[in-house]
Amino acid sequence: MANSKFEYVKAFEKEVYLLPETYMVVRVDGRGFHKLSETYKFEKPNDLNALELMNKAAQSVMEKIPEALLAYGDSDEYSFLLQKNCEIFERREAKLTSTFSSTFTAYYNFYWKDYFPNSPLTPERLPTFDARVVLYPNQQNVKDYFSWRQVDCHINNLYNTTFWQLILKKGLTPQESEKRLMGTLSSDKNEILFTELGINYNDEAEIYKKGTVLIREWELKDDQPSLNERELSKRQKDRLRKKFRKAKIQKYHIDIINEGFWNERPWLLE
Ligand code: ATP
Ligand code: ATP
Ligand code: MG
Ligand code: MG
Ligand code: MG
Ligand code: MG
Ligand code: MG
Repeated sequence: MANSKFEYVKAFEKEVYLLPETYMVVRVDGRGFHKLSETYKFEKPNDLNALELMNKAAQSVMEKIPEALLAYGDSDEYSFLLQKNCEIFERREAKLTSTFSSTFTAYYNFYWKDYFPNSPLTPERLPTFDARVVLYPNQQNVKDYFSWRQVDCHINNLYNTTFWQLILKKGLTPQESEKRLMGTLSSDKNEILFTELGINYNDEAEIYKKGTVLIREWELKDDQPSLNERELSKRQKDRLRKKFRKAKIQKYHIDIINEGFWNERPWLLE
């Protein structure tokens, strides 16, 4: 099929090759989930099944894409850290983002029925996800990126918990609840929850407060080659990929805003 007179149009295609020697983080986010969560009657503020479905889709993506070493998710989003220097899709941006969004979307839809057996999907509102990739030049940026997402989870969850409890327990309308919370600090929300609603925020489930971390747990052995692929031969790379694929993916709801988390797992940032 080579060399037809039409083939010149191929030259109009533009590829973005992502900068080598940088960390790639891919974030997927549900499209219009504010509305979708109403259509399918997610529990507010936190539907546990919806969160576990996100976790299932993310875990499935990690199983399919071994370069993804770590993932962090909350609400309708998930961020994936790829191995530094990996050559996935020759680092072509469009391939990377479209594959993550479509793979995540496919698994989310496939497993929907296991998590929402009584709310079948309708073609008028199918869940879909966008994706973007961001490059970070150093380890501190990567740590700060994941801290940023976990802080965001915390801030949103504290707000949403207070907002919805004012509605559910005190009978406020959404407008009244929003007005009540306008300009309040975290400490104010904690106080409203405690004194007016009888809720100690600390007792809320960890998955709501901290989100979910998925880690390809990898046992470090001295004789193992560096994970930095550039230094390896093709055969070594293949063997390493195979091993990686087999490494167990573990799920946690823990604090990732601390050096200990990263120090215990040096292979994540190698
Ligand atoms: P966009 O398409 O721009 O991302 P969006 O409506 O998806 O718009 P987000 O900022 O991504 O907006 O917010 C996602 C919204 O989805 C949340 O604000 C919340 O209303 C809802 N949502 C997501 N996950 C859950 C959940 N587990 N339980 C309840 N509601 C959820
Ligand atoms: P990549 O992931 O790089 O796109 P690929 O395996 O999808 O790799 P393509 O160049 O996209 O490679 O080719 C798609 C292949 O899928 C075809 O070569 C053919 O083997 C198969 N295929 C697609 N559609 C059909 C079909 N309708 N019937 C039979 N085979 C098909
Ligand atoms: Mg968004
Ligand atoms: Mg969204
Ligand atoms: Mg979102
Ligand atoms: Mg193809
Ligand atoms: Mg094709």
